[in-house]
Amino acid sequence: MSLNARKKSAADAAKAAGVDALLVTHLPDVRWLCGFTGSSAALVLRNEAASGARSTRSPIRAVLFTDGRYIAQANAEAVGTEVVIATKPPLTESCEWIASAGVKRCGFDRTHTTVAALDNMRKAVPAKRRKSLFVAVDPLIAKLRQIKDAGEIASLRAAALLGCRLFDHILSFIQPGMTEMAVAAELEHAARLAGAEGMSFETIVASGERSALPHGHATLAKLPKRGFVTMDFGVVLDGYCSDMTRTIHIGRASAEERNAYDAVLEAQEAGLAAVRAGVVTGDVDAVTRSVLRRAKLDQWFTHSTGHSLGLEIHEDPRLAAKRTEKLKAGMIVTIEPGIYMPGKFGIRIEDSVLVTRSGCEILTPSPKAWIEL
Ligand code: ZN
Ligand code: ZN
Repeated sequence: MSLNARKKSAADAAKAAGVDALLVTHLPDVRWLCGFTGSSAALVLRNEAASGARSTRSPIRAVLFTDGRYIAQANAEAVGTEVVIATKPPLTESCEWIASAGVKRCGFDRTHTTVAALDNMRKAVPAKRRKSLFVAVDPLIAKLRQIKDAGEIASLRAAALLGCRLFDHILSFIQPGMTEMAVAAELEHAARLAGAEGMSFETIVASGERSALPHGHATLAKLPKRGFVTMDFGVVLDGYCSDMTRTIHIGRASAEERNAYDAVLEAQEAGLAAVRAGVVTGDVDAVTRSVLRRAKLDQWFTHSTGHSLGLEIHEDPRLAAKRTEKLKAGMIVTIEPGIYMPGKFGIRIEDSVLVTRSGCEILTPSPKAWIEL
């Protein structure tokens, strides 16, 4: 989808929400709409057809406000968008522009606008318009971003495959006695050398009893001679995130550990098999949970089954209990059941998948069968 098509769909969503302009400040939304990747931005989208303004241009007017650090970058990236280098804070200047351009009702994202920001937005416009001009709307751009287009899918696929290559690499690197930090550092170093712009989130390496921490960030703890190592990591390529988790075992495992691993793997594969366009997200969560219930392990499954991802690591829809959104073709979601038994061990297995009409395509095809190093 071209940037112009994205702006058009955003303007249509704004119109449907009853506003004639949209102020976009959440940076991933700004990037998705106009291509700008800088850290300071306020983007105004205005449907000029709705306002009756006469113009030979596209009826969608997009104006990006940023600051002096980004003159060259904004002009290079935000092709097709008017760029204003603000001398005041970009948010203030964008709101002044909105008021002077005759916008009647400007939507702002209720989930990404702080009380302080709203205060500043209102102070930037004439007193008589302070109450009526800005209207809180649902996250319209996040909703549009849920379905990935062909270019986005290609970027997400490439990021996921790099993640798989890193997992292969780390298997040959891991030794008992090295620190979790050393494992995380090697993963991240190799990711950078392979072209990753960064990691999607703080790399999780949790070993031995620490594997029972669902978000056990790497520490100076040493990998045990016998025990699990959970690694959950992702890279950013072309702005898009990858996400995968594998749990391996160092040394010989007990029957309990082995059975628990098999149960988590069965739950994860049942979750994958349940993914298809039209399926309710909460139902996928119920599938993974029911497998672990049969194995009498569900009390240790203390988080939801998965989430969507794209420009951000955690996007909607979530695959969680009682959620009612339906999966659609073109969504990218994770399936990541896990169990965490305090004082003993933890296991999680996570793939990222592309939702299709008939099922899903696994973007992270690294081996999941029992690995004992
Ligand atoms: Zn993950
Ligand atoms: Zn995840």
